[in-house]
Amino acid sequence: MKTAIVGINWGDEGKGRMVDLLSQDQDVVVRYQGGNNAGHTVVNDRGKFIFNLLPSGILREDVVNIMGNGMVIDIEHLCNELDDLESKGIKITGKNLKISNKAVICMPYHVLLDVYEEERLKDKKYGSTKRGIAPVYADKYRKKGIRMGEIFFEDALYKRVQEIVEYENLIIEGGYSKDRIDHNEIYHWLLKYGNRLKPYITDVGFFLTELIANDKNIMFEAQLGALRDIDFGIYPYTTSSSTLAAYATIGAGIPGEKLDKIIGVVKAYSSCVGEGPFTVEMEGEEAEKLREEGQEYGAATGRPRRVGAFDAVATRYGCLVQGADEIALTKLDVLSYMEEIPVCVAYELDGKRFEDFPTGEILNKSKPVFEYLKGWRSDVSGCRKLEDLPLEAVEYISYIQELIGTKITYVSVGPGRDQYINIK
Ligand code: GDP
Repeated sequence: MKTAIVGINWGDEGKGRMVDLLSQDQDVVVRYQGGNNAGHTVVNDRGKFIFNLLPSGILREDVVNIMGNGMVIDIEHLCNELDDLESKGIKITGKNLKISNKAVICMPYHVLLDVYEEERLKDKKYGSTKRGIAPVYADKYRKKGIRMGEIFFEDALYKRVQEIVEYENLIIEGGYSKDRIDHNEIYHWLLKYGNRLKPYITDVGFFLTELIANDKNIMFEAQLGALRDIDFGIYPYTTSSSTLAAYATIGAGIPGEKLDKIIGVVKAYSSCVGEGPFTVEMEGEEAEKLREEGQEYGAATGRPRRVGAFDAVATRYGCLVQGADEIALTKLDVLSYMEEIPVCVAYELDGKRFEDFPTGEILNKSKPVFEYLKGWRSDVSGCRKLEDLPLEAVEYISYIQELIGTKITYVSVGPGRDQYINIK
């Protein structure tokens, strides 16, 4: 069985906890895109963990975790994540972690280029996380990336680094007027962190093909959400990779395979990190209260997230482009304080109503049309069955399900591993 767990909105939907929950039935968890520009938070009996690069199944000893070719990997950052896990007594070996030899390495100069570009843009910036993601994906597509497998061939690696650094210096020195980078330093950085990762680097595609032939369960875990997809998201305020389920098998290394199930993760309200159109955005005290209740601060950067009401227009579109078969609705407990809960059912611009998610200037200028539902005003974090929930909460779930036209099969009511309701 091949299952993908993907974000339906702007990211931070709570995918990490869903992967952690559902990975108990999996043999393999694969991350197939992105780098250390977002974070998954998982809380379980061993403590609180934030993963920027490692797949969330890493906390389960019997699960193999794969970092696919669609990823861009800052190897220094990855070594730090491994150190942190090992310091907490979690053993990582070449058996439970495998890194694609085709994944591209995010280099120190990619981070520099990201920082220089945001500096240059000043107030016109896109809100980059400054982790080098756009520059490394740009280099991948202009064929100036260095892949994990190259670590094993030092002479060839040295030559590639020399050639590529020469090119990067044209931009760094010539374009941004910053200090040149030294190819020897880059080469030693690659050896220092690359050598530590060698036991994990392999051709994960062949490995996965064999597992599929043996009917193993594979879960594909995405970072961010549909609205951050490079093609279908709120371009240019997107990430630089595909966050869609359709990319899962490509980014994992098994492009000839088809998924069996796609689970979309949606939050009971909206949040959005960084710049770009966010139609349902709340302001002032209303926003502060929701941000505080939902603890909406970036896992990778600590930045306060923009927050707003549930957006049915964006979510319906997210379900469509993800091809979601079912939905996990997270953080329902956060709304318990609200007397009335706003739900955005359509967008409006110049007297025209939009129910299909628009793009470009229509999206930038649209205003939300709200309906209001009665709140439940009680603690739902102890509920484990649909029947335990107050009637108003059940009505909220049904209303959302009807608006998005996709079945809600899980509802989470707290960050803990057992704080969820299974509606099947
Ligand atoms: P992801 O990147 O999609 O995994 O999302 P994040 O990890 O950035 O955000 C999820 C955050 O919400 C984490 O801090 C989780 O511990 C927390 N969380 C997840 N589910 C729930 C829930 O049902 N209720 C509450 N209150 N917090 C939750």
